[in-house]
Amino acid sequence: MSQQGYVATPPYSQSQPGIGGFSAGFGPPNSSLHYGHYGDPNSSYSAPQPGMSKSTVPLGSSAPVGPPPPGTHQFSQTNFQNGPSTPGQQTHRFQGPPPPSNTGASYPPYSHQSQPAYPNTASASSATQLANQLNSMQINSYGPGTASSSCMSSGHPASFQGSQLPPPTQQQIALPPGSRVPPPANNVNGLCAQPSLPPNARQDGIPGSVPPNPNLQQLSGQPPGPGYHPQQASYGPQMAGSQLSYPGAFPGGPAQLVGPQQKKLDPDSIPSPIQVIENDKAARGGQIYATNTRGQVPPLVTTDCIIQDQGHASPRYIRCTTYCFPSSSDMAKQARIPLAAVIQPFALVPPNEAPLYVVNHGETGPIRCNRCKAYMCPFMQFIEGGRRYQCGFCNCINDVPPFFFQHLDHIGRRVDHYERPELSLGSYEYVATLDYCRNNKPPKPPAYIFMIDVSYRNINSGLVKLICDELKTLLDKLPREEQEESSAIRVGFVTYNKVLHFFNVKSSLAQPQMMVVSDVGEVFVPLLDGFLVNFQESRSVVINLLDQIPEMFADTNESETIFAPVIQAGMEALKAAECAGKLFIFHSSLPTAEAPGKLRNRDDKKLLNTDKEKTLFQPQVNSYEALARDCVANGCCVNLFLFPNQYVDVASMGLVTMYTGGTLYKYNNFQLSSDSLQFLADLRKDIEKKTGFDAIMRIRTSTGFRATDFFGAIYMNNTTDVEMAAVDCDKAVTVEFKHDDKLNEDSGALIQCAVLYTSISGQRRLRIHNIGLNCSSQLADIYKTCETDALINFFAKSAFKAILSQPLKTVREILVNQTAHMLACYRKNCANPSAVSQLILPDAMKVLPVYMNSLLKSCVLVGRPEIPTDERAYHRQLVMSMGVADTQLFFYPLLLPIHSLDLKSDTIPAAVRCSEERLSEGGVFILANGLSLFLWLGVSVPPELIQGLFNVPSFAHINTEATLLPDLDNPFSQKLKSVLEHIQNQRPYTMKLIIVKQREQPEMLFRQLLIEDKSIYGGASYVDFLCCVHREICQLLS
Ligand SMILES: [Zn+2]
Repeated sequence: MSQQGYVATPPYSQSQPGIGGFSAGFGPPNSSLHYGHYGDPNSSYSAPQPGMSKSTVPLGSSAPVGPPPPGTHQFSQTNFQNGPSTPGQQTHRFQGPPPPSNTGASYPPYSHQSQPAYPNTASASSATQLANQLNSMQINSYGPGTASSSCMSSGHPASFQGSQLPPPTQQQIALPPGSRVPPPANNVNGLCAQPSLPPNARQDGIPGSVPPNPNLQQLSGQPPGPGYHPQQASYGPQMAGSQLSYPGAFPGGPAQLVGPQQKKLDPDSIPSPIQVIENDKAARGGQIYATNTRGQVPPLVTTDCIIQDQGHASPRYIRCTTYCFPSSSDMAKQARIPLAAVIQPFALVPPNEAPLYVVNHGETGPIRCNRCKAYMCPFMQFIEGGRRYQCGFCNCINDVPPFFFQHLDHIGRRVDHYERPELSLGSYEYVATLDYCRNNKPPKPPAYIFMIDVSYRNINSGLVKLICDELKTLLDKLPREEQEESSAIRVGFVTYNKVLHFFNVKSSLAQPQMMVVSDVGEVFVPLLDGFLVNFQESRSVVINLLDQIPEMFADTNESETIFAPVIQAGMEALKAAECAGKLFIFHSSLPTAEAPGKLRNRDDKKLLNTDKEKTLFQPQVNSYEALARDCVANGCCVNLFLFPNQYVDVASMGLVTMYTGGTLYKYNNFQLSSDSLQFLADLRKDIEKKTGFDAIMRIRTSTGFRATDFFGAIYMNNTTDVEMAAVDCDKAVTVEFKHDDKLNEDSGALIQCAVLYTSISGQRRLRIHNIGLNCSSQLADIYKTCETDALINFFAKSAFKAILSQPLKTVREILVNQTAHMLACYRKNCANPSAVSQLILPDAMKVLPVYMNSLLKSCVLVGRPEIPTDERAYHRQLVMSMGVADTQLFFYPLLLPIHSLDLKSDTIPAAVRCSEERLSEGGVFILANGLSLFLWLGVSVPPELIQGLFNVPSFAHINTEATLLPDLDNPFSQKLKSVLEHIQNQRPYTMKLIIVKQREQPEMLFRQLLIEDKSIYGGASYVDFLCCVHREICQLLS
């Protein structure tokens, strides 16, 4: 055990010396090493590693600058193309152009001179310095694409073996030799120190439409809060004025939308996520990916391919941050690359891939290791002629049960290897025995309870009628097993305002019966028989009820509601019926009625950017946590559909949903006319979803490492069992691993995820996913097999969890710090020697900075008065349960030019980078991040295009209120519709289409998603962030 000095506590949990002071996150290496995952004061970049001399990474001008490996190629600022290039070009070192005199021009449009990217470096010249940097940045890329695999191996002594990876490359971005590295910034993203917008901008707290408030364009001189850099003061005079506005910016400012700015770094010269995605599609798209090799890196989550399980779980189920673990904890501490797996145990597989086999050993049940209880899997090694097997996880030798005995062939493999899923596949299911059931009784089929808020507003808006009408058809689509004729799921109905109404819908009744529970302090279930019914049997009574409900409450004037007792009632009903299930709660307002879980409006913008900001993400009363625990214990999953028109305290109301594996949907200012489509699509999808109920997930690992932290819509009673009242196809749990010993390079790092659950038909099952990773003592191997998309999933979830207990500023600093550490470690230990001015990025992480910057700019991590607290809590909750594909899209939205659609081709056009510079006045673009979907129209879109899409003659005639495109009989319109459908496909949330015209006010919402640009809330542009990370790296290496 080499645990010495190893900090095993979860990230962010340790005390943060120096935090709050302005030099904390960006101070000297020794202090900054206190943060992050492997934050251990003993491991320092400034301390020479054993066997490793500092001089191997020359940083000064005296350092020998090695020639590039043969065949590599570099790009100067002017000739860089973002695609494969011809090898053999020579390095072009950009020789420091004269600094531009007008720094303003070098900023992206949303910036202005009083808002430099790094206010805290605040000296009068910092903006000039940055501009100089930008202008002098130079990209050297070692063989992107397929050009130079051979030279790449030579450039990487520890080349990756046995994989079909694209050739390893790395990206270098250079500042001119001798350029001075600016002083460290203590606030990299400018998030704290930026000027703020007036708090009155969005008092209704609901985005969705931005009020035409002229103040939004202006900046107020909010005094700096604690922790601000003293030099910030020098910005006071400049910031103070409301006379300052984002130059050129919004709305209007046509010049900003056309073409790149002068004197600005060519954006094509910094690593492009689009290029990375397209390269992977070109190399691996449409192919068969067989999971037959331990530690192989799968195609990107954005690449379509057919996955064949040949012994390791499909990447649809498990993706890892790296497919090669460092062999020792010292190495892990050195690299600080999170070791994590993102597990989506019920992920959907396309029809052309095999569904999971179900293994049934009858009363014997699954075969398990006697010591560690791991399930039989391809990692078990059969010995002694097949009579015994050695566990791949704990090495224990077990007897093979007689019924399972089989002879071995000449290579020691069982002759029935390919006949048994549990011997040859990465993923499969076991039928569980009674031992695995609650109270040793076979479970009953789950139940769905629909609980409708019938207070005045919901009745008045028509929502109640909408829900009831939809349920009449939807209940025919409850999920069922393939072989079943109808669903085994039972249904029940409750309505509520200040009291609860239960309905008896027993099939023998002529009319449904209502029972009122008015004692909401001590909720009980007034009826057992007739509450949960089979829809097919009780169809006429249920339909009758659904017809009556809107009328029953048509004259209500009750505006107060309860909430916690509703969940309590649903949970008690499931408990009484001895089954697991889901509650579908349709709710609109803050529950202010006198009852347990009563909430008050506690949205306080004054808490933003203070140490108390975290309380906004915590529930305001403890009872919700206790309720969540009870729900999980009883297999009660809570799906919450919220229809707020003001603050409803999502952090409190969503808590039970979060802990029970439920889904939170939120429709701000719900309007029947514009929002029904979205809501009904969400409801349909959710009801039809394949779901596992009453689930417990357990992660087992081979010796030397273990799962230490879990992130997701989960509940943990102890440190090992991940409890989920339900888990559906879209939910992912991110698991972090840490070493507790050295890993064996021969046997690798093996992971087994077992989910015990009740199926939709009421069968108790185990779903097993196995994956094997490599181990290496070479840092380069770790970097080579990283997956940026999984890394960002991990970083997002760990940060969003951390904000419950840490100031947001600290969390942001940790993220930046860790990014710099990972990249600095690569540079120091894996990259060829190069000038200090070069930013060197490992190929597999070369777009990590753009994603990281997007995460840092997300509304969850940025406290701004104009961002509603509920919106932040909502985003936080959604991301916590996302899988890798969803976080990828969320943090790097898809921007598709559609004016140039190829009508003859079935393919979706290639996306462009998520920046305003990619827009054109004559263009039409789609922008989607999984929650929002925009159709953006440039001011000069040709009239014929407008006619073809909207059936109106001109730009001015387009109705931006529409949330649906008209059905038109022309190829362009039809093609666009199919593209939109494709984008929506397989996304857990239905995206409402928002039509945005260039230079009109709602364009603001659209621009917030252009994440390569400087954020309107002050977050750094991609280029600025790269510069900043580079400075951090230089600090760490100096
Ligand atoms: Zn074992």
